[in-house]
Amino acid sequence: MVTAESRREQLKAVFEEARGCTRCPQLAAARHSVVFGAGNADADLMFVGEAPGANEDKQGLPFVGQAGQLLEQLLGEIGLQRSDVFIANVLKCRPPGNRDPLPAEIANCQDYLFRQLDLIRPKVVCTLGNFSTKLLRADPGTGITRLHGRDEIRTIGPRAVRLFPLYHPAAALYTRSLLEILRADFARIPDLLALEPPPQPEPAAVEEVVPEPEELVEEVVETLPHAEPPRDDQLGLF
Ligand code: URA
Repeated sequence: MVTAESRREQLKAVFEEARGCTRCPQLAAARHSVVFGAGNADADLMFVGEAPGANEDKQGLPFVGQAGQLLEQLLGEIGLQRSDVFIANVLKCRPPGNRDPLPAEIANCQDYLFRQLDLIRPKVVCTLGNFSTKLLRADPGTGITRLHGRDEIRTIGPRAVRLFPLYHPAAALYTRSLLEILRADFARIPDLLALEPPPQPEPAAVEEVVPEPEELVEEVVETLPHAEPPRDDQLGLF
């Protein structure tokens, strides 16, 4: 049987692999840290943002800047704290100057996120903004303005999850009206968590809905050796 403890150990092994990743040479050269994700490794609720910014790159943890403070505040309003959830991003490395993630970078990095989803096994996954919504819905044509606040069951790799797209908190920091929409959408999360978890597909019947990367960078994945395995506090694990 796969226990929560063994899934947590596997998650740490994926982090260890990501820490040495050089699939995106530009990002690998510029980063201070690989921001793998943080929180409860057995969480029912997971958030997926876009990519680390300068603060996250410095601290090695996701959503620690202004957008993170808002995320924490909104969590508090529904009776949750960071240690109840797991927070990750589409990209684990900061794009220089906070530019948008490139399609090739998303393709290079997506496997880490899919493995996180598979190991953490959340019931509800809130995508924050366009990049994570488009990636996890495997539909690059439909954006967050249309999709926010509408939950749907999606099979991502081997797991079915309830996906709940939300506006990105950074967008809500700039546009007041979006903040109220984000707050109203957040208020629905407790009800979604109270629903029965979606039925899981039979292992043999798993349909891969993950899109083929548009531009696969044909590069051998190198991993750099690290002297020490990651500690739980580096992973921000609770
Ligand atoms: N914005 C994101 O999408 N992710 C972070 O970790 C921080 C800001």
